[in-house]
Amino acid sequence: MALLIGSGFPNFDVFPTLLRKKTPKNPIDETHASTILHTIFLYVIILPFLCLGLSAIGWNDSWNIAMSFSLGGIIHVLTESFDEKGRRLLYPLSKKFYGIRVLPYDFWTYLTDKKVLALEGGLFIVAFLLLVF
Ligand SMILES: [Zn+2]
Repeated sequence: MALLIGSGFPNFDVFPTLLRKKTPKNPIDETHASTILHTIFLYVIILPFLCLGLSAIGWNDSWNIAMSFSLGGIIHVLTESFDEKGRRLLYPLSKKFYGIRVLPYDFWTYLTDKKVLALEGGLFIVAFLLLVF
């Protein structure tokens, strides 16, 4: 559960994008994926504080929960670094966006791209096979 919450957490910076009235001319410049929520740095820094906080309120397994949350956030950021925007992987050392840019960035383009369909379909099939066998 913590892994799932952590993997969704970076997308809290999507609200300005969701509130936009029309698709911007250059969606790659929008706020989404440009904030600290989409950095590996945040999930490394937050890990000990989350662990101590959960432990302080009496949660057992605080280390596993905090680790799962941070791992989810990091997996999210690394996975998205494969789109044409890249992510700020070296923040705060660099504000530059890094990644292997093979997928489109804009959400609507993402949904209709054949490479994405092949990737998502492939991941689904692999996940299904791992679950069954
Ligand atoms: Zn994201």
